[in-house]
Amino acid sequence: MFRSHNCGELRLSDAGKEVTLSGWVQIGRGFGGLTFVDLRDRYGITQVVFDQDDNAELAERAKKLGREFVIQVKGAVRERTNKNPNRATGDVEILATELTVLNSAKTPPFTIEDDSDGGDDLRMQYRYLDLRRGPLQENIIFRSKLALAVRAYLGDKDFVEVETPFLIKSTPEGARDFVVPSRLNEGQFYALPQSPQTFKQLLMVAGYDRYFQIVKCFRDEDLRADRQPEFTQIDCEMAFVTQEDVLNTFEGLTRHLFDKMKGIALPEFPRMQYDDAMRLYGSDKPDLRFGMPLVELNDVAQNKGFGVFDSAELVVGICVPGKADLTRKNLDALTNWVKRPQIGAKGLVYVKCNEDGSFKSSVDKFFDQEALAAWAAKCDAKPGDLLLVISGDDEKSRGQIGNLRLHAAAEYDMIPEGAFAPLWVVDFPLLEWDEESERFHAMHHPFTSPKQEEVERMLNGDHETMKSLKADAYDLVINGAEIGGGSVRIYDRALQERNFKLLGFTEAEAEEQFGFLMGAFEYGAPPHAGIAFGFDRLCAVMNGQSSIRDFIAFPKNNQGRDVMIDAPASIDDEQCKELNLKVTV
Ligand code: ASP
Repeated sequence: MFRSHNCGELRLSDAGKEVTLSGWVQIGRGFGGLTFVDLRDRYGITQVVFDQDDNAELAERAKKLGREFVIQVKGAVRERTNKNPNRATGDVEILATELTVLNSAKTPPFTIEDDSDGGDDLRMQYRYLDLRRGPLQENIIFRSKLALAVRAYLGDKDFVEVETPFLIKSTPEGARDFVVPSRLNEGQFYALPQSPQTFKQLLMVAGYDRYFQIVKCFRDEDLRADRQPEFTQIDCEMAFVTQEDVLNTFEGLTRHLFDKMKGIALPEFPRMQYDDAMRLYGSDKPDLRFGMPLVELNDVAQNKGFGVFDSAELVVGICVPGKADLTRKNLDALTNWVKRPQIGAKGLVYVKCNEDGSFKSSVDKFFDQEALAAWAAKCDAKPGDLLLVISGDDEKSRGQIGNLRLHAAAEYDMIPEGAFAPLWVVDFPLLEWDEESERFHAMHHPFTSPKQEEVERMLNGDHETMKSLKADAYDLVINGAEIGGGSVRIYDRALQERNFKLLGFTEAEAEEQFGFLMGAFEYGAPPHAGIAFGFDRLCAVMNGQSSIRDFIAFPKNNQGRDVMIDAPASIDDEQCKELNLKVTV
């Protein structure tokens, strides 16, 4: 027997018991004739004491224990004289009578403590050591419990978990495919699924009615902040349902998960139209934990002789509450922030709504007090507030000020601690016109249905009509993060063919890539709809954290590398030959 108890469970009520513990040496320290060792496992830390007077030989051996040695200790539980109230086991210690070193350890390259001294790269290289740290263990265990809770909830609601293949053909979700050469089929490649989209739709055709899977998806994209080339979805599909049914089912799941895992009762989720989200927040994933909606100022700010505004398609502002006291330096910093290439604004105008009712702005030359008062009224600004204003192209300016809104909220501590603001964003456009490639892209993916009342327009409309089509597509957003997205699907061959055509597929290409799905639609496909949640992101958001990496046991770095196992790596000539591959770099 390696252990009678774990390192997190002994309490004062266990005093007097003979126990055996196994774990890692967190730290050892001498104090007169006593050597204290903090013994750690995933359940906690227990103090073990070796007493020179009690057993000199044992105490001598204990002094030689290094950090992260794996040891087994036998001894009696006793009450501590100086208790540690910060530790669950802090009332007791073990007076050791036996010590077995199960394995020694090199000094770890960073401290294995809640706050490690190791940099990102080093911790990624020694991920198995990083994973020993308390915060990461909590995350990984949370993730496991969350997955179990998802399975239990959906299982109860008659969802069937079905595994779908990883070696498939391209499923367009808007990223590049990872490809895998086939040895048995010379010169041919599988694509790893960007999602199980087509398979879950085929399962609906097959009559499974309610499908889910906690599944890996693979997308080869330039890694923007906090994306992973392989990530996990809670993927779902339902037949004989409307958008409303899907939203209700998954709102139910989300509320259940927050309640079960965090004891948080989420409010009912508001619904917001995509157009309103873009208009009021400059984003399709608005963070509603705080206000500061965008306010259009064209009618009060244009035609007053300020050329920059007069020539702009849109003048748009936000009201930052209580920030009229920002210094020149603060305001310059905000201006520089919006001028960074990532944001791309040309400049930033400010108006301070002073406590005495007067206004001070960066455009005082063009706007008198009365004019600025009109801006303030439009923005519902009170004395002490600060208006920040951007102008230019409509869509771009909204995006820029939307970003500034987020920045200001974070910068000025306007986000209430522990708050969760979920919402559904609905009625996304079906298609997106890309000026550069001069073609439409599917806003969600090519299998998304236009709204029922738009079908006729989609089948027969002209180019401009296509731009205005709305889809039964929806996103779940929590705290400004996209947690999930889905849509009602096309289940009719003619409509699916039309969509592929609009997306620039020739008939032959559509048939070659998706003939199997369109074929299936001819064999009795039921109306169906679905959704997928980003499981990693859900874990992070539920815990008020921003990095999904900390919830993935073995993540990739920003270059898509696993630096621990050193992948990707080249393969040897023999393997290349077998796969008929010629590597030219
Ligand atoms: N396959 C979609 C995605 O990965 C989700 C869905 O439409 O159900 O975003």
